[in-house]
Amino acid sequence: MISRLLSRKYFAPTAGIAVALAVGLIGEYGYETQRVRMLHDARNSVANAVSHYRAELEGDLNATLYLTNGLVAYIETHTKPDPELARSMLKILYQQGKHVRNIGLAPGNRLTYIYPLKGNEKAVGLYYPDLPDQWPAVKLAIDEKRPRLAGPLELKQGGTGIIYRVPVFTGPERKYWGILSMVIDEKQLFAHAGISPVTRGLDIALRGKDGKGSEGAVFLGNPALFSTDSVRETIHIPGGTWQIAAKPVSGWPAGRSVEWIRIGGWLLGSLLGLFLHVAILSVRRRLLAEEAVRVSHAELNEAQRVAMIGSWTFDLKTGKLSWSDEIYRIFETDPENFGASYQTFLDAVHPEDREKVDFAYRESVRNHIPYEFVHRLAFPDGRVKYVQGRGETSYDEQGNPLLSRGTVQDITRIKTTEEELIRLATTDALTGAPNRRSFLKALENELSRVQRIGRTASLLLADIDFFKGINDIYGHATGDAVLVHFAGFARGQLRRPDFFGRIGGEEFAILLPETGIDAAWQFADHFRELLSRTPAATPKGSIDYTVSIGLAELHPEDESIDEIMARADDELYTAKQRGRNRVEPAP
Ligand code: GH3
Ligand code: MG
Ligand code: MG
Repeated sequence: MISRLLSRKYFAPTAGIAVALAVGLIGEYGYETQRVRMLHDARNSVANAVSHYRAELEGDLNATLYLTNGLVAYIETHTKPDPELARSMLKILYQQGKHVRNIGLAPGNRLTYIYPLKGNEKAVGLYYPDLPDQWPAVKLAIDEKRPRLAGPLELKQGGTGIIYRVPVFTGPERKYWGILSMVIDEKQLFAHAGISPVTRGLDIALRGKDGKGSEGAVFLGNPALFSTDSVRETIHIPGGTWQIAAKPVSGWPAGRSVEWIRIGGWLLGSLLGLFLHVAILSVRRRLLAEEAVRVSHAELNEAQRVAMIGSWTFDLKTGKLSWSDEIYRIFETDPENFGASYQTFLDAVHPEDREKVDFAYRESVRNHIPYEFVHRLAFPDGRVKYVQGRGETSYDEQGNPLLSRGTVQDITRIKTTEEELIRLATTDALTGAPNRRSFLKALENELSRVQRIGRTASLLLADIDFFKGINDIYGHATGDAVLVHFAGFARGQLRRPDFFGRIGGEEFAILLPETGIDAAWQFADHFRELLSRTPAATPKGSIDYTVSIGLAELHPEDESIDEIMARADDELYTAKQRGRNRVEPAP
């Protein structure tokens, strides 16, 4: 399954791109998460700072402004305040309050008492309804019956300030009495709270002039801060609200410091993708090569099976012998039970051939000549196979044998056919005895031995007496049975080196090596005499018959076997002449 996928042509680039994309996207995700977290952290820290400033402002301002409650309460209970007492109360309020520029009382809307007087002399006696820039704010406070904050604004007496006005009402019917005003030095206030347009790396702005919150104008810092993604908070003060906005001077973090995550992701992804691509390609190449080898191995195996030729290699250094499947088939063994080895090979060879095979192979290696040998394999059930082994050995520069390669061919069928042909060509079909041709061959060989080493040997020709008569009386088939009987009888009389053959219709020959003419006569006469007492058992009953025998000794001076055959034939003729059932030449 996997190997099928791997063998697809487009699998490698597809997998490579997929991995590159996956890792790159993981990098993108990590980068985005980090960037959002950084932004969140930055906003948190700005929000903390903003909260802190809000608390500072609210604390300072409220603590001071609420001081006025005491004085207001006093006036509410004393409609006509003692001027001295009022003045000293204003002084206490001025001293206890924070960032107070001055504090004054305006009964009936006329500023009558003011502390400190120094520097504010011009304000004494001012009547609010006469001041167009102040009266609307004052009137609003009176109408709404609650304290109001104005400013920061330019002050008559110079500088800027925040004016806190409390309308005072007296009596059970809450009759309007006048105004209490307190002017706060806002610059001091902001400085005390640690606020300036640029504070500790933050752009800061305040808006809500006249306590109007987000409706009011900006009175500190850059107005543009309110139209950006700044952090904002509302500041609650008596008589209204302000808004504070803040943002890092350098802007919100853009995530450049974590940019490496996405770049790293794409880089790593590309490398991994490329690596995977190359790795899959190389695996694919290997798989294809293996497949090609498998196919050619299978084809070779099939060719070997059809040809019945197996191949082998024998590493003479390590002693490792490798067989192709066909050799295992020919040897009728399998790799599980018998690993290939030289000994396993020799064990499979027929015991009678084993030594010769071993010798032939070793000689071929020793003499640098090809090995070629036909031998038998023996199987436990008694069957025999013929194989032709061939091989060649390669050597190193010093002439040491390295590796032998060769083949084993099962030639059993060829061999048996060949043997059958030889048998047909050399034996007589009726009696199974060697025929005339093969007998004459044996005779020729014997003659050459006689000539070469001066050994003695004799030839015996036997012809059945009155055989025509047997045929005539009992029929041809019975005649055949007599011939078969004779062959069997003769075989029983032979010694090991003797050679027997049927050389004509009812003529047989026996070659007697190492036998002189006298010994041959002894043998032949005994043969004749015993045969005459041994009838042939045939379907037509047992038939007594005899032979006449002519002998000839082989001489080194004989030119050819024809001479010997002629001599023996002459003797046979003589035997017939002299009455049959005889051996000539008689001693
Ligand atoms: P002799 O004692 O002189 O040898 O007399 P004979 O009858 O044996 O004479 P001859 O050798 O001339 O005859 C051989 C006969 O053997 C002739 C032939 O018909 C017969 N014969 C030859 N071959 C075969 C054979 O294969 N089977 C049979 N049944 N008869 C054969
Ligand atoms: Mg004859
Ligand atoms: Mg005869």
